[in-house]
Amino acid sequence: MAKGIIRTINGPIIAVREEISGSFFISELVTIEHENKLLPGEVIALHPHRVIIQLFEDPSGLTPGLTVEGAGRPMSVHLYPGIVGNIFDGIQRPLQIEKHISGKSLALPQKKYTLNYEPPKWPTIITVAIGQHLNPGDIFAEVEETAVITYRATVPSGISGTVESCMPSGRYTSDAALVTLITPEGPVDLTLSQYHPIREPRPVSTRMAPTRPLVTGQRVIDSLFPIAKGGTAAIPGGFGTGKTMTQHQIAKWADADIIVYIGCGERGNEMTEVLEDFARLIDPRTGKPMLARTILIANTSDMPVAAREASIFTGMAIAECYRDMGYHVALMADSTSRWAEALREISGRLEEMPAEEGYPAYLASRLGSFYERAGYVQTLSGAEGSITIVGAVSPQGADFSEPVTQNTKRFVRCFWALDRQLAYARHFPAIDWMGSYTGYTDDIDPWLTQNVGLGFPKLRERILAILQEESNLMEIAKLIGTDTLPDRERLTLAIARVVRIGFAQQDAYHPSDVFTPLARQQTMMEIILYLHDTCQKLLDNGTEMDTIQKGGIFEGVIAAKYKEIPDESDMRRWYFGEIERFYERVSGYGIVQTA
Ligand code: ADP
Repeated sequence: MAKGIIRTINGPIIAVREEISGSFFISELVTIEHENKLLPGEVIALHPHRVIIQLFEDPSGLTPGLTVEGAGRPMSVHLYPGIVGNIFDGIQRPLQIEKHISGKSLALPQKKYTLNYEPPKWPTIITVAIGQHLNPGDIFAEVEETAVITYRATVPSGISGTVESCMPSGRYTSDAALVTLITPEGPVDLTLSQYHPIREPRPVSTRMAPTRPLVTGQRVIDSLFPIAKGGTAAIPGGFGTGKTMTQHQIAKWADADIIVYIGCGERGNEMTEVLEDFARLIDPRTGKPMLARTILIANTSDMPVAAREASIFTGMAIAECYRDMGYHVALMADSTSRWAEALREISGRLEEMPAEEGYPAYLASRLGSFYERAGYVQTLSGAEGSITIVGAVSPQGADFSEPVTQNTKRFVRCFWALDRQLAYARHFPAIDWMGSYTGYTDDIDPWLTQNVGLGFPKLRERILAILQEESNLMEIAKLIGTDTLPDRERLTLAIARVVRIGFAQQDAYHPSDVFTPLARQQTMMEIILYLHDTCQKLLDNGTEMDTIQKGGIFEGVIAAKYKEIPDESDMRRWYFGEIERFYERVSGYGIVQTA
């Protein structure tokens, strides 16, 4: 193993000048032994006679002269059953759940840093037999990891061979040799656990087009700006506009098999809230606690910056491991701006030439190396899996022209722009329909028409057109006032208001509004557009807009989101009936009036 001596210490950046033995390599995991503790770090630059290391711990107390030892392998995630339902720090050290649920802060465990977590014995089913040939990615054992997740142990990259011997199904620790392969390089033992470098994408068989939506139950997302499974989205927004809340909503309700939630540089108590919430909440699809499908990575603002930089790659590597077991994973990163600040701080200490706003010139490529790991794939074992990335961006002063937002835009196809005015008006989610976009509608519309309703894309198009028209009309109305607009345009404004308040706005705290299935979203759009067409007919028949407005029908349709009618066709029938009765009432009145 490589060994060297510390020469200089500059915050978390450590320069090692002398190599006692061996040689370090980029991304190598290293440790420094100090006061009975092993402090972990990563090699980030190699110069002649000088190795630069970023330390994942507070460097206080370290002095030049101490020995740095290479682990001989890259900074990696350690995969083993027991990860799901747990919380880790940015370099995957388990944080004790009980402690911070009660203590409200995410204190790092005080035990000596150890790479080998001692797992319990897991009831394991061996799925291969002697003589079988195995390739990288093939599944050889399965464990019920939680009530909803089966852990599938795969053959690590670079290993293929024939099964020479295997254990019977039974209870094993994650480091027990379960299967022995004969490979060209000799026998290799396979265990439930494996390591994978955090910065190296795991290989897949094929990358496929993302054709299925990630259903979040949030109407403004699913209906108007949908994201595909395997897609990428950014949620930029100033302080208090609802980034965290939107991510929590997606983490709680999205139809992903596994959620990897990376709290990056956020406050510790926010992460404890997530934990408490997820432990309490029951997943409507499985009837089990949400925590049974969630992995949390907490890198709060008081933890070392280098660990924060690593945390999103740690989360990504874990997500890829579960994708390769055939799961659909949704990864949330909150916030990528705090992550970029960590990158900037490290770059500053390395005295690199700063680019825009002090961020390093490689900000874009580093962001790219994260977002490009999203995708819908066929895994090496032939299963389908995906990673969807939703990254929050918190630009200073909500200025979307700053480098992190701008560079993120290059790599994401969905942009859910949070608007301060909407948030001030308590319109949540504050996703601004004029500033947001999605590039996934063409990919997922065939799935939506087949599985939800033929008319879904058309409904979306019409709803968005009404919001667009409202925005244009508001420009005119600012000059001449709404009362002077022709009735037809006043109707557009009234319907746009129904869309905004009755559809786009969704209360995360209201039990019947917190989640809307796709079929109900379609029904709600149909009701709103039926209302529009009916009112249009009334106008065509000579009824005045003032008369229509007095009828109270707009308020009635706005309240539909809280209406507890479990069956979609009942809901449609009920509201269509209401609208028709309104039509009869008003048109009768209108005819009498004009007669
Ligand atoms: P940010 O992360 O952007 O600073 P938060 O996600 O913490 O903002 O949201 C700030 C506040 O906005 C929340 O505490 C909540 O009161 C409100 N909020 C945000 N989204 C919603 C929502 N969908 N429903 C209800 N309230 C919301």
